[in-house]
Formats: sequence, structure tokens, C-alpha cells
Amino acid sequence: MIQSFKTLPQLFAALPTEQSAIDHLTAIRWANGKFCPLCGNANAAKIGTLTGTNTHKCYECRKRFSIKVGTIFQDTKLPLRTWYAAIWMITNHPKGIASTTLATDLGITQKSAWFVLHRLRHAARTDSFNAPLSGEVEVDETAVGGLEKNKHESKKKHVGRGLIGKTVVMGLVQRGGQVRAGVIDNVKSETLHGVIQNHVEAGATVYTDEHRGYRGLNARYDHQTVNHGAGEYVSGKATTNAVESLWALFKRQYHGTHHFISPKHMDAYLNEMTFRLNRRDMDKGQRTTALLSQIEGPMPWKVLTA
Ligand SMILES: [Zn+2]
Repeated sequence: MIQSFKTLPQLFAALPTEQSAIDHLTAIRWANGKFCPLCGNANAAKIGTLTGTNTHKCYECRKRFSIKVGTIFQDTKLPLRTWYAAIWMITNHPKGIASTTLATDLGITQKSAWFVLHRLRHAARTDSFNAPLSGEVEVDETAVGGLEKNKHESKKKHVGRGLIGKTVVMGLVQRGGQVRAGVIDNVKSETLHGVIQNHVEAGATVYTDEHRGYRGLNARYDHQTVNHGAGEYVSGKATTNAVESLWALFKRQYHGTHHFISPKHMDAYLNEMTFRLNRRDMDKGQRTTALLSQIEGPMPWKVLTA
């Protein structure tokens, strides 16, 4: 049975021991039936549990495994209850949490805290099978990193987008709906169009600024533009206010919580933010469980630090 809780004390009361935390993970991971993480066997009759242990055995591949194998918890030395507290914080704190803060809150090293947070950001990624955005969608890109003053200039003049030393990120916000954001390699037309085609249903209304890379979108979408250069921020419904709020929020997380994010990890921080935004209607316990339900795929230290 999957336990529910609305506060952090309720979480610890519902899961008072490491065994109860393991049982909780097992209930969530096998909510749709048992499967073997080693060979993919999904025949529940062919998966057993060694009596009195947390070791499962697959009668298809003949191997033994714990419920953590093949998840972000694989090989962890930290108790699951410590992980759950971290999940509570990263999914519920509006601006995220710094590894230094998490380390002191949980009594773990900063290195461990950094690793925990990165594994959780990996879990928070939006899977490609998510439904495309539709209706009214605002799209924009921005440069992150570097000096605030220079960023502002480059944006205003529509030159130098993607300056060296900065990371260019693209965001798509469905009005009243879901959010997508990620790093892009450049602001060429084919890149911008490619991202929009991958994430937005044909026929949707797409709002962008007048950057030339967005020209031609009207072949597939109802494309409306906002002319920032002329000070025309609102022309009827053609605004990009929602996606600009997204950048404001991300920059507050960047500067306020983390101070610096390496370009290599930028996508992970965007995952974390969009995970929270896309589950804004859930309560805190539901958001915690939501992250716990997408922990497939280990994220080893050597991948993170490569
Ligand atoms: Zn197997």
C-alpha cells in the first residue's frame, strides 16, 4: 500500500523505519505489477522474495536484486528516509535547495548532498512521452550566466544571442498548462523550429518575440509575434509574459539559491523547476510521491562528474 502524508512529520510518522521506507518504495515501484530491473521480466509469478529479506529473485534471468537496483537509489549508502526528506525539500521549496543547506539540514556531507540533489534532478526530467503542449503556447529563449547587464543588452538588441560563456535556454509555456524548458545549442531557425515541433501540437497558437529564428512558424501554427524592440509588450493577446515570468523565476533560483550553475548541469536545474511548476496543483505529499514514482534509471557518480 502506498502511504500518503501532507507534512514532513506525517511522512516520518507514516514511514518510521528504514524497512517501512523500503516497503513504501516497493509499493510505488511495483504499483503496476512486479518486474525484474535486470532483464525486464514482468511476469510476477516469476519473481520471488527470499523469506525475511529485502532480496528479490527473478526466475527468468536467475539473478537477485534489491528494489533499489536500476533506480536513482542504486548503490546509495544513505538511508531511504534521508532521501525522502531530500525529495520533500527539492519538490516543495519554490526556489529549490542548495547542497550546502541540504547537507546541514540532513547531517550529511556536502558531497553527498550534491550527489543526492543531482540524482533527484535526473529523476525530475520530463519524459519524452509526455503529451505535447496545445492551445496557446508562449515560447522564448534567454541567455543564462554571465553579467546581468550584458544579458539585458544582448536581449534588447537581438544581437549576440548565445554569447560565448553563456548558456542559451529555451522555454515553452502553455497558458494555464504545462511548462517545458531546456538548453539549446544555438538560436538558429532549425533549432528553434525543431524544439517547437517536438513539444507543441500542430495548429496551436504560438507566441514569440520577433527574433528571425521564429519566422516561418505560421506554416504549422497560428504564429503571433510581440515586438519588444518597439516597446510593444502587449498587442492584444500576443504577449510572452508567462514565459518571461519563467525566466525571472529561474534566475531567482540561479542567483538566489545556487549562485552558480555550470552549463553542463543547466538542464538538470531546469528539470527541477519545471517538475515543480507542472505539479503546482498537487499538495506537498503528492509532489513527493510523484518524484518517487519516476526514479527509474541510475545516475552514477562518474556520469555526473565526467
Ligand atoms: Zn530477471
